[in-house]
Amino acid sequence: MGAEPPRGETGRSQGALRLVPFFFGARAPLLSRLSERISRVFGLRVEQHPPGFDPEVAYDDSRGQHNSRVLLAHLLREVTPVTEKVLGVTDVDLFIPVLTFVFGEAQLEGPAAVVSTHRLDNERYGLPPDPELLFQRLIKEATHELGHTYRLLHCTADRCVMGASRTVDEVDLKSDRFCPACAHALRTKQAEEPLAS
Ligand code: ZN
Ligand code: ZN
Repeated sequence: MGAEPPRGETGRSQGALRLVPFFFGARAPLLSRLSERISRVFGLRVEQHPPGFDPEVAYDDSRGQHNSRVLLAHLLREVTPVTEKVLGVTDVDLFIPVLTFVFGEAQLEGPAAVVSTHRLDNERYGLPPDPELLFQRLIKEATHELGHTYRLLHCTADRCVMGASRTVDEVDLKSDRFCPACAHALRTKQAEEPLAS
């Protein structure tokens, strides 16, 4: 860690994000780039920690998937006085009860979010592996879910990262960036939140 706290594209220097990988062993090489990107975009100091809970508690036998609501509730408890946000990252398949699956989920205006690479991988769709494309999809979904934690809603602006995505094709159509309106909203929301560090 350098002496200077990270400053995001928002120009703001602020608290920490706790990055919590679980069931992510094979994808671990993605974590350093993910951390670097989150730090740059959100101006958060990223600290990686193993989960302080057993992620298996979120496993639903009847669906063969992990319930992201349950995971969010546990991730919420990982928030410390100096942690502004907590992001779980996993390779297991996530669901919420009303949907067959989700790429990720976040608390609107809460500190916790979770994203999964499970359905972002080309190989899942019978296509050749593409590690760079997988990373781009992960960073888009992580940025999107973290955007929700700053109270950003879904956006229909062309290619905005806050666009809703139900398929990987829709993930690929959007960029990894906030549109000008969402970028402005993010700066405003961040300025309203107390500095955690
Ligand atoms: Zn969303
Ligand atoms: Zn937008």
